[in-house]
Amino acid sequence: MYIDSHCHINFPELAARMPEILARMAENKVTHALCVSVDLPDFPGVLALAEQYPHIYASVGVHPDYEDTPEPTVEQLVEMANHPKIVAIGETGLDYYRLEGDLEWQRERFRTHIRASRATRKPLIIHTRAASADTIRILQEEGAGVEQGGVAGVMHCFTESLEVAQAAIEMGFYISFSGIVTFRSAKDLQAVAKALPLDRILIETDSPYLAPVPYRGKMNEPGFVPHVAEFLATLKDVPLREVADRTTENFHTLFNVPKD
Ligand SMILES: [Zn+2]
Ligand SMILES: [Zn+2]
Repeated sequence: MYIDSHCHINFPELAARMPEILARMAENKVTHALCVSVDLPDFPGVLALAEQYPHIYASVGVHPDYEDTPEPTVEQLVEMANHPKIVAIGETGLDYYRLEGDLEWQRERFRTHIRASRATRKPLIIHTRAASADTIRILQEEGAGVEQGGVAGVMHCFTESLEVAQAAIEMGFYISFSGIVTFRSAKDLQAVAKALPLDRILIETDSPYLAPVPYRGKMNEPGFVPHVAEFLATLKDVPLREVADRTTENFHTLFNVPKD
């Protein structure tokens, strides 16, 4: 049993193939998937999927790479998160790789999401790229994390250093690995995954992007997430069953999703 903790199956290229995607999930024992919002205009479509399918959950948030899109307020996010199938706030965070110039708006948007997470008690889905120091600093300043009375979350599609992973884990966060960890070139990331305890790890596809080996370069989908688990099991030299069970358990704990 596996769970895809981060996918974008509402994107047109996947939404158009929904019966096939759900069938492959069932075939590969992927029991749940979390469909992650990237902007407010797309949110109704994301919510509709979660309402239609019992094993699809969803989040609400505005991705840091989306520049020309309606800016959310804390109140709006809180209101939109008030639904049993909306289990997280995000994806949010900082991305200094894709965008350049004065990114103060990105940091402000990130703070808005952290405040909404604190208000709703729903965990954060964090996207961070080339911005890890500011990401950790702003999380701390805004009182995210369990010890500061906030709510934890997940550093999704993790590609940062072991130090960054440990700083996040200290705040109660989980670290999620995508198909990137299976790439031959990802030696540093593999060392990070090997060093982290299984009780802090989630797995994801981030589909339609980043298909794991042996599907690298193809369109990704939630049914491919067992390949990430298989790679981690070999890397960490533990039984596949253990990786599957622990990452599933971690998902249910973090997102407060019932085991049905
Ligand atoms: Zn992301
Ligand atoms: Zn994503």
